[in-house]
Amino acid sequence: MTATTATPAETAVFRPEQRADHGYFRLWGTRGSIPVSGPNYARHGGNTSCMEIGCGDDRIIFDAGSGIRELGLSVMADPPHRVHLFITHTHWDHIQGFPFFVPSFVPGFEIDVYAPPNIDTDIESIFRGQLDRAYFPVQMEDMQAKFEFKVLGEETVQIGDVKIDWEYTLHPGATVGYRVDIKGKTLAYIPDNEFLKGYLGPPDEAPKQAIDNVHAPLIELLNGVDVLIHEAQYTAEEYADKIGWGHSSVPNASVLAKIAEVGRWIAIHHDPTHSDEFLQDKLNLTRQVLRDLECPIEVVHGYDGMMDYL
Ligand SMILES: [Zn+2]
Ligand SMILES: [Zn+2]
Repeated sequence: MTATTATPAETAVFRPEQRADHGYFRLWGTRGSIPVSGPNYARHGGNTSCMEIGCGDDRIIFDAGSGIRELGLSVMADPPHRVHLFITHTHWDHIQGFPFFVPSFVPGFEIDVYAPPNIDTDIESIFRGQLDRAYFPVQMEDMQAKFEFKVLGEETVQIGDVKIDWEYTLHPGATVGYRVDIKGKTLAYIPDNEFLKGYLGPPDEAPKQAIDNVHAPLIELLNGVDVLIHEAQYTAEEYADKIGWGHSSVPNASVLAKIAEVGRWIAIHHDPTHSDEFLQDKLNLTRQVLRDLECPIEVVHGYDGMMDYL
């Protein structure tokens, strides 16, 4: 018997190739408040807030929670010389990974750190402070990268093809959310926001007053984005005991996703007490709330390592 070549001619095989015309995003940390580990968290992961946007030569990072440690290793494997780090606010879960961001220690790297205006003290002092000898063996002076600390202004930040705008969110201390526009495709990153603070009623009766006044600037920022990355940390029951902690309930966050008319929603900033099983139930409930609101958008839970294209 002779061997036959059953393979069709190369030209006959349809071989789709991944395009990245509008860049990609990767979630490196999707847990809120404090890192967690163990079998109950295997699917979602346990690292705190960190997201990467990739488009062109520069690496753009949002928040420096514990997820930034692994991101740093990936940057070292394929180094650009310039890294841009946008901080939403300086709570621990958004800065605690910074001392472990390896590119900080490597000469030749330039790291621009952007922070909101009106934080309690300037961002450089906060970063230096967490590297104080009392907390960490290595100091800012030992970091060989060239740092520049910047305060966000009103103008759009442009890095290559990536445009970045921001707006304040409702959260203790000065906190912002970001909108990223890459050649017309848009994503918003809002890890910490207490939408409709204090509201415990049904989502279809949400208070118009708060929507039109308190939250209007943020809603405008999010309006129509292709991808909304926004928390819904608490169930409705949990939220009743945690009003003012700075995080949204599932029903309230669902109202925001509907009003902002986003393309799809990725929920992040998972509570450290929520196991994978619990989060699965919570996601199904979120889907039901959106259906009841006659809001047909797709919602999924972000997890450490999730990556997609814009
Ligand atoms: Zn947080
Ligand atoms: Zn916070």
